[in-house]
Amino acid sequence: MINLYSDTATRPGPRMRQAMAEAEVGDEQLRADPTVNRLCERVAEMLGTERAMFLPTGTMCNQIALRVHCEPGDEVILEESAHNRHYETGAPAALLGVSHLPVAGNAGVFDAAQLKSSIRPAGHHFPRSRVVLIEQTANLAGGTIWPIETLEDVCRTAAEHGLKRHLDGARLFNAVVAEGVPADRYCRAFDSVWIDFSKGLGAPVGAALAGSEEFVERAWRFKHQFGGAMRQAGIIAAGALYALEHNIERLREDHENAALLAGGLAQISGLEVDAPSTNMVFFRTTPGGLGASELAERLRRRGVAVSTMADGRLRAVTHLDIERADVLRAVETAQGCLE
Ligand SMILES: *Cc1c(COP(=O)(O)O)cnc(C)c1O
Repeated sequence: MINLYSDTATRPGPRMRQAMAEAEVGDEQLRADPTVNRLCERVAEMLGTERAMFLPTGTMCNQIALRVHCEPGDEVILEESAHNRHYETGAPAALLGVSHLPVAGNAGVFDAAQLKSSIRPAGHHFPRSRVVLIEQTANLAGGTIWPIETLEDVCRTAAEHGLKRHLDGARLFNAVVAEGVPADRYCRAFDSVWIDFSKGLGAPVGAALAGSEEFVERAWRFKHQFGGAMRQAGIIAAGALYALEHNIERLREDHENAALLAGGLAQISGLEVDAPSTNMVFFRTTPGGLGASELAERLRRRGVAVSTMADGRLRAVTHLDIERADVLRAVETAQGCLE
């Protein structure tokens, strides 16, 4: 199977497994796991924050950060395609009593003027605008990148209006590699940031939430409360450390493979393809032809997995376990499905 379903499909290779097998461990919830501690120090250093905390998933990072920033009745301003709004089972509403105010951006990106017009006026009728959430890269918008100037501008406006700034950096390093903007520059504009180890970085489990000393200390309480305090988590943290060491620069290959895939698919009549920004290729079948789910099913039967979106788009994601030859075969297979 050529698995383009998601960059979560990666399997740990022999060297990552070896690092995991040999990891020094302790009790993570007593903050006594040396490998987890080393990972957190490394993350804080790379992101330019005072502290970082290891968590099992990015979904938990989002909820814990919003829990620190918000009270029930508060509102989070985010782009309408944001993962936190669509793919986290309504957690902000269910767990935090927090609502979303979606902004219609352009390719997942909105500007300071749009933010400003979304901020609630003072007044006892309104939810309190509390957080602006930015997703870098913007997954459902196409793996698109927030330009650093726009991101800084939006965060500056947010700060001027007393809003907290939260970065969903599930794929932050894809933007770092594509733009040549260092991670700490992106993170500087935020009160809280997180990165995912189980996406393009290729580790099996884990994410890290980072921010000031005070933010992370408060977040520790909710890490316990939400069930994210672990025990000998150094085993999985070792995979994350390995990923930070070896799998960032190579994200370029994923971007090259995505461009190759998009170029190939665009040659096939019956498909419309968006130009990729990073490692995601979104495409659709032309109206009147094969339906999206039918194409996905045909691809799957011939050994290529992609995902179908609620709006009829298909998504193919390149990653560590996909090579150039796989991309060429996937294009050929798609061609065969549409003949
Ligand atoms: C995957 C993802 C998440 C959730 O991360 P998990 O580790 O799967 O819980 C959040 N935001 C974005 C943009 C994502 O792509």
